[in-house]
Amino acid sequence: MGSLVLESVRKSFGSVDVIRGVDLTVADGEFVVFVGPSGCGKSTLLRIVAGLEEQTSGHVRIDGKVMDVTPPAKRGIAMVFQTYALYPHLTVKNNMSLALQQEGVAKAEIEARVAKATAMLRMEALLERRPAELSGGQRQRVAIGRAVVRQPSLFLFDEPLSNLDAALRVATRIEIAKLHRLLGATMVYVTHDQVEAMTLADKIVVLNGGLIEQVGRPLDLYHKPANLFVAGFIGSPT
Ligand code: ADP
Ligand code: MG
Repeated sequence: MGSLVLESVRKSFGSVDVIRGVDLTVADGEFVVFVGPSGCGKSTLLRIVAGLEEQTSGHVRIDGKVMDVTPPAKRGIAMVFQTYALYPHLTVKNNMSLALQQEGVAKAEIEARVAKATAMLRMEALLERRPAELSGGQRQRVAIGRAVVRQPSLFLFDEPLSNLDAALRVATRIEIAKLHRLLGATMVYVTHDQVEAMTLADKIVVLNGGLIEQVGRPLDLYHKPANLFVAGFIGSPT
């Protein structure tokens, strides 16, 4: 569960074409990274997959089903944002529980899922705190935990590490890779950071100006870039 197919996806804001025809297949359990310069359409594409933005034309399929009229909550996805998007007035535990309560999940089941995610992300000491009492890295772990308890078949990450300092970026990156191995879920991860892309991805999608320049395994892109843009982008250190 968790395969994703994009078919000729386009998106315009007014007269500006931001996504200009994207076709892509992501297999069950794959870790795919969208990489590309600022403004190339990474977040827009992810938001279309999530249902937070409607494509102008084309289709999104999740597990083979066309999602065109499916609201975000019914897509079997969970999204982690750069800005964490936690509820400031709720404790960590309640931040993690809220969506499940709204979906009508039984209380005992919520407790069990929160406990499991808490252990996985080593957040036991944080459960009764509020977001203001957490560091940036802890807030991002809570945001990830909130995604995990939903048990999505498809995780979407939009630059989840970019507000963290260098050491925390590496530590959290390792947590995310571990989570992928543990859960076996499909993950689509957006970054403008080549190192993150190279280390996390089964498959990298290089975007530029709303189009895919190349799709491939990290080392294939590195050794056989399709063009100068990919060579420059994948080859250059951050
Ligand atoms: P990235 O995430 O790769 O930095 P985005 O997907 O955020 O890029 O944005 C791609 C382009 O679409 C940018 O030029 C941005 O200004 C434009 N854009 C994004 N969202 C909107 C919006 N809601 N209205 C108008 N333009 C937008
Ligand atoms: Mg973005």
